[in-house]
Amino acid sequence: MLEKVVIANRGEIALRILRACKELGIRTVAVYSKPDRDLMHVRLADEAVCIGPASSADSYLNIPALISAAEVTDADAIHPGYGFLAENADFAESVERSGFTFIGPKADTIRLMGNKVAAIEAMKKAGVPTVPGSNGPIGDDDEASLAMAEQIGYPVIIKAAAGGGGRGMRVVDEAKQLLNAITLTRSEAKNAFGDATVYMEKFLQQPRHVEVQVLADGAGHAIHLGDRDCSLQRRHQKVVEEAPAPGIPQHLKEEVAERCVNACKEINYRGAGTFEFLYENEGFYFIEMNTRVQVEHPVTEMVTGVDIVKEQLRIAGGEGLQIQQSDVQFQGHAIEVRVNAEDPVRFTPCPGKVTYFHAPGGNGVRVDSHIYSGYTVPPYYDSLIGKLITWGENRETAFSRMKNALDEIVVEGIKTNIALHRDKIFKDEAFIKGGVDIHHLEKKLGTH
Ligand code: ADP
Repeated sequence: MLEKVVIANRGEIALRILRACKELGIRTVAVYSKPDRDLMHVRLADEAVCIGPASSADSYLNIPALISAAEVTDADAIHPGYGFLAENADFAESVERSGFTFIGPKADTIRLMGNKVAAIEAMKKAGVPTVPGSNGPIGDDDEASLAMAEQIGYPVIIKAAAGGGGRGMRVVDEAKQLLNAITLTRSEAKNAFGDATVYMEKFLQQPRHVEVQVLADGAGHAIHLGDRDCSLQRRHQKVVEEAPAPGIPQHLKEEVAERCVNACKEINYRGAGTFEFLYENEGFYFIEMNTRVQVEHPVTEMVTGVDIVKEQLRIAGGEGLQIQQSDVQFQGHAIEVRVNAEDPVRFTPCPGKVTYFHAPGGNGVRVDSHIYSGYTVPPYYDSLIGKLITWGENRETAFSRMKNALDEIVVEGIKTNIALHRDKIFKDEAFIKGGVDIHHLEKKLGTH
């Protein structure tokens, strides 16, 4: 088992990882940027190392500083959390080359999944359903591109192979826009990601976002922990997530989850991972794989009882994956809302001092948050200040508990999106019914 882990992240996920380590008797090293000294997990960790100034580039993205922190504290592994360096293959490689364990997949797997063209190809080979598309990069032959789009059928979407975070894509409605769109996306991709490779997919008009959580040991044993629906999004950022995805025939879900498990076996996947799909008209279409723990992992934990972060630590520590698929029992329904320090109307970040914080409670309520009364949310990072998760024996109960939790929670001193959740989202009939598409929230907010 691992003895000492460096938590190369901040905020709620750093605290989440710290809690899992403590449960397993693993000592912890918090690393923090100068303005992050007062983070909750920094106080609770066995050791804490300042890795640089506020700017992420000089702290949480600073590979040499993170590796030095592991060296000076004599740690044996590094957990990257999500965001920052979590899906950076060079980081994973440096960690392993320096003699530490990277808590995640092998660098080669991260690299493979980081290139969407390669990832889609690998998934297709493994039997995972993908979006009809170019099956590889778009070449220089304009006539061939036009013929391809015609064959796929408009609208199509041009996407950067190296894209991420919702950037580097462009929807094309008709043939006369196609070549221009390809040129523009290529040059944007080159500038933003240093790789001009683009590919083409059919643009699905009203899809839902449904994803499958997997765990694998890197030696051929893999299981899935079911699905999540994350269709409520704004600017490609998830706002609310739930498990399981409502209203999808069970046999379709089982089939796609099984294919994900097979893909993990095929590529000898190691650790926790998520296969993201668009779902439309009873079809699943793979869009990408995330090779890390996700923000929304708690909803899966609530319905399966499996602690995903502890399993990551066990797998990385060499204990393997002891859980068999038949051990995984799904129970009830869970929902998560992301609480952001932001203006609930304009969505601009609102950092500042939390003068008072009261966490909700009660049966089936989980709060994953690093904030406390007196904590100052710095302006330099992501605006996520916590997640409220509720569980119920059915979807209705999980929703009632969430409504209670949203009534109970108090965050004073800064603006948050709690009112948006309470007064808009959890009063939206279509959402309450279940199964809205990825454009639903923006349409409702009038920003579509
Ligand atoms: P990123 O890595 O930047 O998040 P994704 O490939 O996951 O890129 O796509 C991000 C989002 O863009 C999806 O969640 C979906 O909203 C939209 N999108 C991507 N591909 C398609 C498609 N073929 N049809 C419709 N929407 C798409």
